[in-house]
Amino acid sequence: MAAAILLADMDAFFASVEQLDDSTLAGRPVLVGGSGRRAVVAAANYEARRSGARSAMSMAEARRRCPHAVVVPPRMKRYAELSARVREIFYRFTPLVEPLSLDEAYLDVSDSRRLHGGPLEIAEALRSAVRDELSLAVSVGGGPGKTVAKIASRRAKPDGVFLVAADEVLEFLQPLRLREVPGVGPVTERKLHEMGVATLGQLAELDPGLLEKKLGKSGPGLYDLAWGRDRRRVSNDRERSSYGSENTFNDDVEQREVIEAAVIAHSETVAWRLRRAGRCGVTVTLKYRPSGSGEGWRLVTRSRSLAVATDDGAVISREAMRLWDDEPRHPPLRLVGVQLAGFEAERAPQLDLFGEAEVAARDDVAGSAPSRTALNSALDDISARFGRGVLKRGA
Ligand SMILES: [Mg+2]
Repeated sequence: MAAAILLADMDAFFASVEQLDDSTLAGRPVLVGGSGRRAVVAAANYEARRSGARSAMSMAEARRRCPHAVVVPPRMKRYAELSARVREIFYRFTPLVEPLSLDEAYLDVSDSRRLHGGPLEIAEALRSAVRDELSLAVSVGGGPGKTVAKIASRRAKPDGVFLVAADEVLEFLQPLRLREVPGVGPVTERKLHEMGVATLGQLAELDPGLLEKKLGKSGPGLYDLAWGRDRRRVSNDRERSSYGSENTFNDDVEQREVIEAAVIAHSETVAWRLRRAGRCGVTVTLKYRPSGSGEGWRLVTRSRSLAVATDDGAVISREAMRLWDDEPRHPPLRLVGVQLAGFEAERAPQLDLFGEAEVAARDDVAGSAPSRTALNSALDDISARFGRGVLKRGA
């Protein structure tokens, strides 16, 4: 039986949460983001997108296109809290959940068939559960590999399912234009265009050795993908040596507030995964890729070790932003991510959680220790409930 990978992606997540929490926003175009002169849209709901506004656009441009939009400042803690609840729903269907960001996760449901049915039944069941329990919409793409699932999830939007069967993979992949393929950036795209390649199907006809010569390591990977070979596994959080979360912006991003919002979101994702795995780490890494061409395309990583191991998103994001602020230059960014590594031996998460969160948050300027602890324990309560649910279902 072929692997069955799903990519579940919340629809316009931040904006949908704002509509959920404020009934006066129902049916109205909503833009989440700052209101300063140089602010950027963090999320646009579908009502706003109909007028041409979209995320990563400058707020000024989005408001020009959609003058009736309501602009709401981002509330990352609230998004992180709901994100954790969404993921707990995912975990009902498989233990193999790999979060990509606050609003997206891969699920490997290959072995879930006996309990939960095939990929389509699982996709619909998890969509119903998210809708019924949280009043939020999630779209699900699926296929035998991660990349197909990822591309399919875009076809599924908004509020739908799009699955690609194993025997339809080549038919699905080969007409795709290169820019539709995750991981193909502008530089790779240009090199391939110069070779007369515009689609994955055309790339499939090339010699893999030539692709490796022209594109380096990514050449053979793209070749394999073009033939439907994608063996990347959905990773199990308990075995990892590091936990990361990152995103690529559609447009270059320069404003500190936007970079910080992304760093906070990634830090909360990483922290949640740590708590779920019962681990604490000491080494915070900020990674970023400056925009532009030439040497600016290189990925920059900066790391620093904390005095005390942590699983607290606020501690991680504060350290990551210190790393950013310490940089001699602050170029516009195309990608930003946060990683945590340096783990202590396995530990009992509940015992360490409170003490450590408090120690770590003592000099926290962004929030008092009790409020951080309350958030973390609220997030972890959900895990505890999940645990009981599993026992009940098993009985
Ligand atoms: Mg989304």
